[in-house]
Amino acid sequence: MDYEALLEHARAAARPVLGRAAPADYIPALARADPQAFGMALATVDGEVHGVGQWRTPFSVQSVSKLFALALALAHGGTALWRRVGREPSGNPFNSLIQLESEQGIPRNPFINAGALVVTDALLSLTGDARAAVVDFLREETGNPGISIDAAVAASEAGHGHRNAALAHFMASFGNLHNPVDDVLEHYFAHCSIAADCRDLALAGGFLARHGLRADGSRLLSRSDAKRINAVLLTCGTYDAAGEFAYRVGLPGKSGVGGGILAIVPGRGAVCAWSPGLDAVGNSVGATAALEDFTERSDWSVF
Ligand code: GLN
Repeated sequence: MDYEALLEHARAAARPVLGRAAPADYIPALARADPQAFGMALATVDGEVHGVGQWRTPFSVQSVSKLFALALALAHGGTALWRRVGREPSGNPFNSLIQLESEQGIPRNPFINAGALVVTDALLSLTGDARAAVVDFLREETGNPGISIDAAVAASEAGHGHRNAALAHFMASFGNLHNPVDDVLEHYFAHCSIAADCRDLALAGGFLARHGLRADGSRLLSRSDAKRINAVLLTCGTYDAAGEFAYRVGLPGKSGVGGGILAIVPGRGAVCAWSPGLDAVGNSVGATAALEDFTERSDWSVF
């Protein structure tokens, strides 16, 4: 497989849409990102890595971190977590409050903000430091000790985090947060504010392509849990556009408002594309276009 050629073709496919959409600005620190920026990298299950464009430029991972937080919470605490968070697409924006009241403070899935706050709370209880658990995991899977939290982004999120605070307090009122709300928010903002590049995320997603095995061959999750996370990624990983993403790209994937999308091909590898311009739902326009081209032209597919 000529991965370099496939990635170059994907980059060319994304080029026409670069600069057409704006970066997220509800977190002011993210608004400064260059809408023309683009990078893409893939990592095979045995650690072969290829990249194009700005694949070594760190960006704010944002909601892509929700996937790692979930995997770690399940690894440390097992399936009891599923009593506190559901597995259905929400059909609403990622930061919506609307369903929480009628559904008694149980978020629809772990990849909307409410669900990720519950996952972060669980990970905090299980490890004592949810933020460090995610950062350490990324460093270990990638061999990159430079991965760290961008304090300016975390502060910007905290300073404009009324909606996340509302979600967290609301769930706390239903007894679905066990730690102090401020602690949960701090750890949530911190892991969303991790800066990593396309190579890092493609490598860090490898455990889902290896059916639960980490980069060093040790087991993080059972094969069954890895399958389940991939399934929930396919149905819920790209917010209320998961149907459209499944149609265009056809892979389990997690997007973030920093413009990154990490997609998994079980048994083959993981591929991450990044470009800061977002569509109305909050998914990167350039990354989606590149991933669509890549899956149309390669045999990296689950269908
Ligand atoms: N940290 C962001 C938020 O809470 C993550 C959102 C996202 O990437 N969709 O709003």
